[in-house]
Amino acid sequence: MAAQQMEVKAVFLDRDGTIIKDVHYLSKIEDIELLPLAKEGLALLKECGFKLIVVSNQSGIGRGYFSVDFVNETHKVLNEMLGGLIDEFYFCPHLPEDNCSCRKPKTGLIDEAVKKFGINKDKSFVVGDKESDIELGLNAGITPFLIVSRNNEELLKNTKAKRFFANLYEVARWICLRGFTE
Ligand SMILES: [Mg+2]
Ligand SMILES: [Zn+2]
Repeated sequence: MAAQQMEVKAVFLDRDGTIIKDVHYLSKIEDIELLPLAKEGLALLKECGFKLIVVSNQSGIGRGYFSVDFVNETHKVLNEMLGGLIDEFYFCPHLPEDNCSCRKPKTGLIDEAVKKFGINKDKSFVVGDKESDIELGLNAGITPFLIVSRNNEELLKNTKAKRFFANLYEVARWICLRGFTE
C-alpha cells in the first residue's frame, strides 16, 4: 500500500497568469480566459500520469472584492472549460498581513494536497508565472518551473526557477519527455 502511494505524482499549478489570463482580481465569470496552449498542456500532463492541482492566492476574498462562493464558482466553470482536467483547487483567501500558513509562497496548500493524495514530491513539479510560485516550490521541496514571456528580462535575470517556458504546453512537453526532476 505504501509503495503504491509513492507513485502518485502531481503538477501544482498557479491559476492567474499560468492557466488563465491574469486580469488582476478576477471578479466576473465572463473574464475567465484560458491562456494559449494551457488546455493542451494540461491534457498532456494528465496523459503522462500527473494529478493536476491548482494552488492560488485569492486575497480578493480578504479584501472584500469577491466571496469564497464566487471563487468556487469560478473554479467550477474553469474546470468545465478544461473538460474536468483539474483534480482539485486549493486557494488562500487571506490578506498578506493575516500571516496565515497557506498564502504562497508558504506551503500550507501544497502540504494539504500532499497529505490528501499521498503525493511523492520528488516526482512532482510546481509551475507558475511569479517568483513567489518559484519560492513556493523551493519551500516545499518540489522542482519549480516558471512560465514567462521572453521579454520579461527582469524576471528572467533574477528567477531561482530551474527552467522557464513560454506556456503550459512547453512545460508539459518537457516534463513528459524527461519525466523526472533534475
Ligand atoms: Mg500567477
Ligand atoms: Zn491563507
